[in-house]
Amino acid sequence: MTDLATHLAKLDRHLARFRDTGILNLIAGRDVAGEGWFETRSPVDESLIARVALGDARTVDAAAGAARAAFPDWAAMPGDRRRAILHRIADLIEARAEEIALCECWDTGQAWRFMSKAALRGAENFRFFADLAPGARDGKALPTPDHLNVTSRHPIGPVGVITPWNTPFMLSTWKIAPALAAGCTVVHKPAELSPLSARILAEICHEAGLPAGVLNLVNGFGEGAGKALTEHPDIKAIAFVGESRTGSMIMRQGADTLKRVHFELGGKNPVVVFDDADLDRALDAAIFMIYSLNGERCTSSSRLLVQDAIADRFHEMLVERVGNIRVGHPLDPETEVGPLIDRTHFGKVTGYVGIGQDEGATLAVGGTRVGEAGWFLRPTLFTDARPGMRIAQEEIFGPVLTSIRFRDEDEALRIANGVAYGLTGYVWTNDLTRALRFSDRLEAGMIWVNSENVRHLPTPFGGVKASGIGRDGGDWSFEFYMETKNVAFALGRHRIQRLGA
Ligand code: NAD
Repeated sequence: MTDLATHLAKLDRHLARFRDTGILNLIAGRDVAGEGWFETRSPVDESLIARVALGDARTVDAAAGAARAAFPDWAAMPGDRRRAILHRIADLIEARAEEIALCECWDTGQAWRFMSKAALRGAENFRFFADLAPGARDGKALPTPDHLNVTSRHPIGPVGVITPWNTPFMLSTWKIAPALAAGCTVVHKPAELSPLSARILAEICHEAGLPAGVLNLVNGFGEGAGKALTEHPDIKAIAFVGESRTGSMIMRQGADTLKRVHFELGGKNPVVVFDDADLDRALDAAIFMIYSLNGERCTSSSRLLVQDAIADRFHEMLVERVGNIRVGHPLDPETEVGPLIDRTHFGKVTGYVGIGQDEGATLAVGGTRVGEAGWFLRPTLFTDARPGMRIAQEEIFGPVLTSIRFRDEDEALRIANGVAYGLTGYVWTNDLTRALRFSDRLEAGMIWVNSENVRHLPTPFGGVKASGIGRDGGDWSFEFYMETKNVAFALGRHRIQRLGA
């Protein structure tokens, strides 16, 4: 059997149980149906994967109630016990990593070569935050001559986690693990287009001994379950990953209940290649960062800014490599680009192929559909684009790279900063001073110099401008999921003003 056939056979066994029961919500440790059903279909061939229990405001209310009831005990549990539970969750993720990856490839269209690693990164996220749990409440002593000020941190309460469809498992763990480590309880609303792995995560947490009600799962649509979660008075904060305009909606919806929000939003990230760069490495990184994960990746380097002197040569190398990228079944280990998530998204991405041509950019590679079933798009490259074009300004969220030439450093910076977004930037130069100067002035939350997106969990992750609010990673995650309290103990020496004496 080929690896693809083996993967399909295993997938079939994993999905069998969902065919009977559907994908149910999990509230207070129990399976809960919804107010009807919706369907999740594979982007490979649009076949039905499973029906999904449709949560609405009532379902969210039950889940928020469960999270509120579970909160006091979970928050009071000693950090080392929380640590042990989170490590057990990581163990079980590792044990089921293959199942998670198979399901995600089928549900999202992302290629096996990336998703098999993404599942394991979910386990790493749990282990990392597990080890921070015992110290999460730690504070500072800030003495004055009169008082001893002591700070401590306290979990904010039940929180809502709302996630997108592109790498759902990894992103969910990136939010849920720190929330649980901090002592918060959670209601998770995964994306309606890829709900499979969130159900597996909820089951794993339950099996690992997470008390009932600490993590609750509600499936449904943004305008139903998602909106209800952001408006619920028991939910103290919303950690959201998704589109910038959805972030604006969530901010409005959460205003009446004064929600704390943490947003990881879209990007139009530049990869800037100067003429002194190591071109072979820059080429590998530029290709990897836009065409891996189908380009459906917030940190994708969707704008290539290339210096005039090397632009023709760089484009030549790009055209050859991009034309060779293997498009295929996401469960085939050879595949580099799989199908886009669904018909609507395929329509959006291919719409930009037309827009780019109308705007006068050169369609150098791709732009056409592959096959007739499923939402496969040939990796696409536009060259000679201008900075004001829509293909150079808007998030396409697919395997489409827009290349723009620049003369000098100042022009590169103007172009790089001349978009609404500011998530990541990638700078390629061997001039150290220029690298320092350029990255200092580049408007982005995360910048890699002579590298691609390599994550180190203690570092801050997040964007500026329309790309987000707040940071994840290390202690930054706890800043969001916890409140800081200061207690001032008088040392009995200072004079208290006596009014009316
Ligand atoms: P989306 O905003 O359409 O949906 C994300 C989630 O929000 C889904 O669960 C959806 O049901 C929910 N939602 C939609 N409307 C809502 C509402 N009114 N109230 C509450 N919830 C609502 O995003 P998407 O299309 O699923 O994901 C793609 C986007 O996510 C891209 O813009 C991408 O850049 C972004 N993203 C960002 C990061 C990051 O770390 N910055 C990571 C991954 C994806």
